[in-house]
Amino acid sequence: MSRDDLPSRVDVIVVGAGSAGCVIAERLSRNPDRSVLLLDRGPHEWPTTQIRDLGVLPISAGSPYAQAYDEASGLGVIRGRGLGGSSSVNGGYFLRWHPGDFDDWPTGWTADDVAAAYAELDAPGGTMGVSAFADDELADVVPRFEAYWARSMPIRRADDPWPIVGVNRVRSNREGDGRRTAAEAYLRAALGRQNLVVATVAEVTAVTSVGRTVTGVDVGGITIDCGEVVLSAGTLGTAAILLRSGLDMLGDADELPVHEHREVLVHYRARWGSGRAATRPLLQSVVHTADDIEIRCYSDDMANYIKGLPPAGPAMGVAVMRPGTPGSVRLNRTGLTIDLGTVDDVAATRFEHGVGAVAEMLRSDLFAGDVNPDSVAADPVVRTSQHAWGSMPMGERTDWLGGVIGVHGLRVVDGSILPTAGRSGPHATIMMTACRIGDRLLER
Ligand SMILES: Cc1cc2nc3c(=O)[nH]c(=O)nc-3n(C[C@H](O)[C@H](O)[C@H](O)COP(=O)(O)OP(=O)(O)OC[C@H]3O[C@@H](n4cnc5c(N)ncnc54)[C@H](O)[C@@H]3O)c2cc1C
Repeated sequence: MSRDDLPSRVDVIVVGAGSAGCVIAERLSRNPDRSVLLLDRGPHEWPTTQIRDLGVLPISAGSPYAQAYDEASGLGVIRGRGLGGSSSVNGGYFLRWHPGDFDDWPTGWTADDVAAAYAELDAPGGTMGVSAFADDELADVVPRFEAYWARSMPIRRADDPWPIVGVNRVRSNREGDGRRTAAEAYLRAALGRQNLVVATVAEVTAVTSVGRTVTGVDVGGITIDCGEVVLSAGTLGTAAILLRSGLDMLGDADELPVHEHREVLVHYRARWGSGRAATRPLLQSVVHTADDIEIRCYSDDMANYIKGLPPAGPAMGVAVMRPGTPGSVRLNRTGLTIDLGTVDDVAATRFEHGVGAVAEMLRSDLFAGDVNPDSVAADPVVRTSQHAWGSMPMGERTDWLGGVIGVHGLRVVDGSILPTAGRSGPHATIMMTACRIGDRLLER
């Protein structure tokens, strides 16, 4: 649909057709009396099977499905764009958070409360086609990785959907060899609804408001009015829209916090290592430690998954999953600046522990003969997992359905509203949150 064909007024505008936005637009448009407009800045074309191939991360410079942001320390920060958003380009790891990760969530969000919404997505026959990687699908390095940690830690039962402190075979959202995206799972079947309009190449610059009531959105110079705006533009996209929309909506904030799972890579040289095209999904097994580290067993050199990345050899990742000090998202004259912040003392200690443990593993008997022990070296750069979350946390800036506190007609449903850190990646939990909020909104 071109910009000229956009309706001038609808009941609800959902901004962003990503992991959360597809769920919300589908849920809200189940009510035929409610008109819903879903806007995304990405391309018209649906991500093809080549884009969704789990052996590729289509986030190189120039990819129409990836949006790069500037980060203060020079880290490459990327989000997905277009139908499916980041679910079209991500690693396809779809693990729940640990039940205990919900202990500090607002009322109504205990692990028991959220179990049904997770199951909608990841139970057998669920919407996202989730299954754990089977033994015969594993990259060469994975069985040794799991065997090493199984000497000292439990292994999650294959039929248990909740992760444990121990070895967690990755559960993946997939369809054949590709990622099953939020757009395929939620949007495609809803496209025939008369009350749902989907427009791409439609970048929202700001929400419009009268006092503290939101009245619509600006899209490339056109204003569309509505009764409610749901921002699902992702943690960085939503923050940009909010910051551009006028500070009175956010009190006196001129920046918003952002949390990230920072990661250190431990490189090594191995017989099965670099020099061949990636054939297995990038991440098939992780260990979660008692001190909240996720040890990631990458299948191969990341350069084999991301076009244009210089080869660096295979690696294990060590990520601190409950970071303390947040970074920030700020708007300045040149645009949005993201600062993922510094590594505080607690995180530094955890990195040291995790990197030491991984180095010990790579030099152990299980890897002897295949890994050159002298090649094991931690990368000096503390990287990003591309998991940014928590700029509009529930219970603080938004209520437990994402309604922006102190503002009428504005809701945020995406990674921005996660109120705490989780010990697994955020994808499954962001989609679960959208399912649950969508259910409550449908009842209204
Ligand atoms: C490369 C990569 C790998 C990752 N791997 C994993 C993984 O394996 N497991 C995991 O758990 N998590 C992973 N993540 C994180 C996870 O995919 C995201 O946290 C999640 O998909 C975010 O969902 P969301 O709904 O908040 O936003 P998104 O899915 O990013 O959707 C936001 C949408 O809004 C649109 N948009 C933004 N701004 C505007 C605007 N102004 N106007 C109109 N539209 C706009 C965008 O085009 C996009 O489609 C990864 C992320 C990336 C980028």
